[in-house]
Amino acid sequence: MRFLTFHANGKEQFGILFDQDSTILNLSLYGQRHQDFSFPATLLEAIKQGDAFLNAISGILETDRDELMPYLIGLKDISLLAPIPTPVKNIFCIGKNYRDHAIEMGSATDIPTEMIVFTKAPTTVIGHLSEIDSHPEVTSQLDYEGELAVVIGKKGKSIPQDEAMEHIFGYTIINDITARDLQEKHKQYFIGKSLDTSCPMGPWIVSRSEIENPEQLSITTKVNGNLRQDSNTEHFIFPIREMISVLSKGMTLEPGDIIATGTPAGVGKGFKPPKFLAKGDKIEVTVEMIGTLTNVVK
Ligand code: MG
Repeated sequence: MRFLTFHANGKEQFGILFDQDSTILNLSLYGQRHQDFSFPATLLEAIKQGDAFLNAISGILETDRDELMPYLIGLKDISLLAPIPTPVKNIFCIGKNYRDHAIEMGSATDIPTEMIVFTKAPTTVIGHLSEIDSHPEVTSQLDYEGELAVVIGKKGKSIPQDEAMEHIFGYTIINDITARDLQEKHKQYFIGKSLDTSCPMGPWIVSRSEIENPEQLSITTKVNGNLRQDSNTEHFIFPIREMISVLSKGMTLEPGDIIATGTPAGVGKGFKPPKFLAKGDKIEVTVEMIGTLTNVVK
């Protein structure tokens, strides 16, 4: 199932893709008219309900198509928001999780032996096709990082690696937009990673059950149609089960928490001379089995 949050009729709503990806089943509207299940108001609330929600959706999908007709809306008739437009806490990001990217950012001595974790503020989040602010007043080195992102579905602390994958609700795509000059100037990554609009996310969340092996997915990033990043999540230094296990040691992970899993080689800073983003640039991040996240710099 592909879960999405969108704007239609002046309201934020959520639903799932239906019929070959051209139609949405509007679950917000369905919930308003069916009181038999305590229906969530947002996708984040739905994720918190966990299996009870997923079971309810499976039941709804078995309903006669005619009965669902009033709740169907064309994908072309809505504007997508990030699947979780306002995360409850910062987005966790794994730094230098592909060897070739660690090397392009410095040298082989930058390949981490312990996981690097930083975060992005919740106010960075925008959806598919929203514009990325170029922030010319604060940065001249805006860069892209295409990444697979993991959305937590089940609360947990000190999660062992062999149980980690059960805590995942699904997967989405993140473009970890970075102001390289601010990242360098302030030592800690936070400011350089947290300018408004610097976390495009989406277009939707694909449920965990649909992706058997999230560590075998091709990932590419194009800028204005030119291929810049071309890799596969099989090259992670730290696998997803380790990310969840390490993050949850002494810190509770909650439903709706998001982990960006790191970016492969080919970021703008890695080129000589660097190829930073400029106004009008169109960035497309594609992850196999999820889709393509597209945003333009304004
Ligand atoms: Mg990153």
